[in-house]
Amino acid sequence: MKDADKEIFRLAEAIYPEMVAFRHSLHRQPELGYAEHKTVAKILAVLEKWKIETERVSGSTAVIAYIRGELPGEKSIALRAEIDALPIQEQSGVAFSSAVPGVMHACGHDFNTANLLGTAYILNSLKGGFSGTIKLLFQPAEEIFGGAQELLDYGVLRNPAVSAILAAHVSSRYPVGKIAVKEGFINMAASSFAVILRGPGGHAAAPHRSVDLILVAAKLIEAMQLLPGHKVNHIDPGILVVSHIEGGSAGNVLPEEVRFSGTIRAQERAVHELYAAEIRKLLRVQKFLNGIEGILEFSFKGEAVYNDLTLTQFFCEEAALLLGEAQVIRIAKPTNGSENFALFSAKVPSVYFHIGGKGRNDREVSAVHSPTFRVEDAGLSTGMRVLAKAALAVLQR
Ligand SMILES: [Zn+2]
Ligand SMILES: [Zn+2]
Repeated sequence: MKDADKEIFRLAEAIYPEMVAFRHSLHRQPELGYAEHKTVAKILAVLEKWKIETERVSGSTAVIAYIRGELPGEKSIALRAEIDALPIQEQSGVAFSSAVPGVMHACGHDFNTANLLGTAYILNSLKGGFSGTIKLLFQPAEEIFGGAQELLDYGVLRNPAVSAILAAHVSSRYPVGKIAVKEGFINMAASSFAVILRGPGGHAAAPHRSVDLILVAAKLIEAMQLLPGHKVNHIDPGILVVSHIEGGSAGNVLPEEVRFSGTIRAQERAVHELYAAEIRKLLRVQKFLNGIEGILEFSFKGEAVYNDLTLTQFFCEEAALLLGEAQVIRIAKPTNGSENFALFSAKVPSVYFHIGGKGRNDREVSAVHSPTFRVEDAGLSTGMRVLAKAALAVLQR
């Protein structure tokens, strides 16, 4: 190990117990997007204790921190972590489980925040030896596709101009001690949609005198499942899932309104637009056949995250020097997930990678966004070291 890596290792070990306690504290008090007030107070208290310069975005729960290298130089990079939780009742069984009913850090943002904070400690301790500025972005509301746009609107990539951005996200899929990364597209662009059907309603025993919207909805949902592959090229169809439906109030009354909603995941925005156009066509057909009103509410939520090819390769080489080649997993295929980080990756070269959080004795993986989601603290040790080393390497590149 090089001397610089040894120093990073020493600092990570030194701050590890405090960051584990910090993570547990966030985990016990999870807060939903844009309501992360206690979380922000805790982050600010630690940064202020370490005398790290901070900035607030007015009207938002975003926190920006700056670590300025003491050697002369203009270059700047950014590191991002998300701070929000999910509306899930925790059933993970960990000793530091959520004390807030119905709210849980089920995506590991407690871990990611502690990891970025610990990385800040390491980089701040080393600032006498590097040039340039490292911006730390504590992003709110990631789970509701918020936060990133506010930080961009605030000008977080300017003054000084950010030339690269890195993000580390814990994963229950990869074991502690390893990291995992993929170059190019790593996930999918996401859209949400809702269909609202309106008809005359009437007696359930006489659908021939009215329109049975429940039946129309069932037919529409089935027809929508034929779009991937038949109306959208089978090579990159993505998926379209209806995950919510409501309509009707009694067994003998035809409803006047039925709604259903769901999600679309596909890599290219054009595919999402194509799905929306095809759903509108299906609704026009229903108007022609049954005279009912069909409305589509469609909202494109964001592009897929793109990991810059050369920067990701460079990142992998640096990580392998620190951890060993076998600890750096190269992911083959993108996931169906989506991430608000895509807004950053569309603006500057980015690397978004996973930190292994799966325990040695965990046989089954409890996925993100599930009530049993659980990751090990020990992943922080690897995460802080890799993020600190990668930040310095990219800054000095
Ligand atoms: Zn999530
Ligand atoms: Zn997440």
